[in-house]
Amino acid sequence: MASKRDYYEVLGVDRNASADEIKRAYRKLAMKYHPDRNPDDPAAEASFKECAEAFEVLSEPEKRQRYDKFGHEGLRGAGMHDFSGMNAGDIFSMFEDLFGDMGFGGFTQRHGGGPRARRGYDLETAIDLTLNEAAAGIEREIDFTRQDICETCKGTGAKPGTQPETCATCGGQGKVAMRQGFFQMVRTCQACGGAGKIIKERCPDCRGTERQPKKRTITVKVPAGIADGQVIRVGGEGEPGSDGGPRGDLHVVVRVRPHDLFMRDGDNLVLDMPISFTQASLGGQVEVPTLDQRAELAIPRGTQHGQVFRMRGEGMPSLRNGRKGDLLVRVNVEIPKKLTEKQEQLLREFAETEDKDVMPRSKGFWDKIKDVLSGD
Ligand SMILES: [Zn+2]
Ligand SMILES: [Zn+2]
Repeated sequence: MASKRDYYEVLGVDRNASADEIKRAYRKLAMKYHPDRNPDDPAAEASFKECAEAFEVLSEPEKRQRYDKFGHEGLRGAGMHDFSGMNAGDIFSMFEDLFGDMGFGGFTQRHGGGPRARRGYDLETAIDLTLNEAAAGIEREIDFTRQDICETCKGTGAKPGTQPETCATCGGQGKVAMRQGFFQMVRTCQACGGAGKIIKERCPDCRGTERQPKKRTITVKVPAGIADGQVIRVGGEGEPGSDGGPRGDLHVVVRVRPHDLFMRDGDNLVLDMPISFTQASLGGQVEVPTLDQRAELAIPRGTQHGQVFRMRGEGMPSLRNGRKGDLLVRVNVEIPKKLTEKQEQLLREFAETEDKDVMPRSKGFWDKIKDVLSGD
């Protein structure tokens, strides 16, 4: 077990501090480290719990006396709470009676008694789009199944014709107050598990869970320019909340299928376009496919393999302002694999002007076979 810090040190008070000073010191620290103020901060949460533990001991005269005499050892079997296993809300409600008059109440979310309202769960689904659909934007119908309020019992969980009964132990509050030593503790009601009500005869369809899986179809608007992996949030289409809490959201993950010709680079599209070596050398007009249709591109004389030409406004629309990106045409100069007699003759004449060594005219197929067979 890790060694514990001195409780007086934790609260930053003298050993002879009065009960009031201890209370004030704890209140200050609890506010400072409260998880609502330090979301996703495990260090703050640990401090929050450490302060609660120190306060539990130093605020109770008997425990404080034992601690003063024997230190941490003296508290064995003294009925200490295991704060490490409690969530901040529970710790807070333990002490909330003590601080209610000091303005602590404003910090906790209270809903006038009864179980706390909870937001429903978010759901996730995915849709598949073509690049053209992503460029144009579409409306897409999607089906999904979610846990919804049971229609048989209207979400009460009780058999039709019966009603859930208010829990007698907690009077429907879901929590019970217990006096322990100096202060009052509030904990979840054991009889109803915090629900505040007890179902005697369960609904046969949802078996008391109040929920049933239900299919739902909605139409989602996909904005033009959406990219693979982006998520469209549809508010209020998740699962229903409990005890008056709002519904969760539906997250629609967008998958854009790869295109045969175009590669996406942000709002630009990249196209690999084959051209012949004569077009590259002499220049020419080539037809280029675009997302919409076709366009003409002028290839200048002396174009090099891999050179990129930009066609403005032929890319994807920007999701933010609708302005279109560009189409980047990267040319692939293709070398002919076969030449006609005439082409070969012209190229050989061309090669002579370059004064470069080229291979002699290739032998015919049967000439080659003869060479192989004769073992030359
Ligand atoms: Zn039901
Ligand atoms: Zn109860």
